[in-house]
Amino acid sequence: MEVRYVLGTYHEIILKGQNRGFFERKLLANIKRALAGLPVASVTIPSRVVIAFSEDVPWAQVQARLATVFGLAGLIPALWAGRTYEELERAVESRLHTFGGESFAVRCKRSDKRFPLTSEDIQKKLGAFIKARTGKQVNLTNPDTVVRVYVQSDGLYLSLGEAPGPGGLPVGTSGKVLVLLSGGIDSPLAALLTLKRGAKVEFVHFHSAPYTSEASIRKVEELVRVLARYQGQARLTLVPFGEFQQEVARLAPERLRVILYRRMMLRVAERIARRHRCLALATGESLNQVSSQTLENLAAIDRVAHMPVLRPLVGLDKQEIIDIATRAGTFEISILPHQDCCSFLQPLHPATRTTPKACEEAEKPLDVEDWARRLQHQAQSRQLAPLPWDS
Ligand code: ATP
Ligand code: MG
Repeated sequence: MEVRYVLGTYHEIILKGQNRGFFERKLLANIKRALAGLPVASVTIPSRVVIAFSEDVPWAQVQARLATVFGLAGLIPALWAGRTYEELERAVESRLHTFGGESFAVRCKRSDKRFPLTSEDIQKKLGAFIKARTGKQVNLTNPDTVVRVYVQSDGLYLSLGEAPGPGGLPVGTSGKVLVLLSGGIDSPLAALLTLKRGAKVEFVHFHSAPYTSEASIRKVEELVRVLARYQGQARLTLVPFGEFQQEVARLAPERLRVILYRRMMLRVAERIARRHRCLALATGESLNQVSSQTLENLAAIDRVAHMPVLRPLVGLDKQEIIDIATRAGTFEISILPHQDCCSFLQPLHPATRTTPKACEEAEKPLDVEDWARRLQHQAQSRQLAPLPWDS
């Protein structure tokens, strides 16, 4: 299917009050960014979002791109049907051959109350017209074809279908979050869900190169570029972590290694976040998904943080995580083999229930504040552009 117009609906709740203009400006800007390169004529909000193209565009292409614009609740590929009821009839007439089945219903939404006919008038009149032309029956409860008409201040539109949008809030309306990104399946999804709540994100990755291969860095770069489609370019900060890991392996109890790595990751991430004006951190941890993610261990990790640590995956099971990550295009990158920094010097029997006190005790020979400072100084940041759409 090819389309010339797409209507977008968004959730009304956020629009009440003074936020409306701010919310709408972000949404429009994000739509324009996502559609860059396509022949967009205009993007406006007369009542719902109206995207007009200057020529027909493949619907699948538009839909894939708008799936990255959080804040859009529903998408309606549409036909321009003029400004008067007579023009609407002519538009419907040109579509009659596409109406399948034996029954139909007309559903009209009138957001421009100045239009001379009410929604009900249009439904009745157009229903009689279609019935006379096609012989099909009106069936309001279970129609084979639904004919949707939108009456807006900028004119009448006839829907060609309906699709769910990505939902959520427009990116750029909720501040900025620093996501701890490994090459795994979970942390890219943590970023996606944070974006979905309207926050911008940037990323920090801890790597053990040259002790491990640089594959995790390449993977993370690729993931960042996929996720950047949701917000425009994104900053990635790389932190060489191998020396610290060796020091931990030398001086701290083996079973606490992973938790001590995580605590250091949070310390360093927080320093980077503060410098980059992020107000929170996010990780891909869930609860009890792996033995290191018990509530006790999460509490021992969080003890070193002064910022909120968001864990958006906490309500999802593994299958839901895989489904969402597959749709977002991060899953196929995440499952490529790589050596995560935490598999470097991995303990055989990691602690499953530690305490902040046990961690502090284990960190005594390490001078963690000095390490945090050094690691921050060794960190390197750069901006990555979104992955182009035709690849
Ligand atoms: P993921 O799939 O994101 O790797 P996971 O379920 O495998 O998560 P862990 O490997 O225990 O869980 O990591 C927990 C979280 O800690 C990750 O989701 C990520 O937010 C953070 N993390 C782990 N390793 C790194 C790393 N090398 N760099 C940055 N963050 C990391
Ligand atoms: Mg992992």
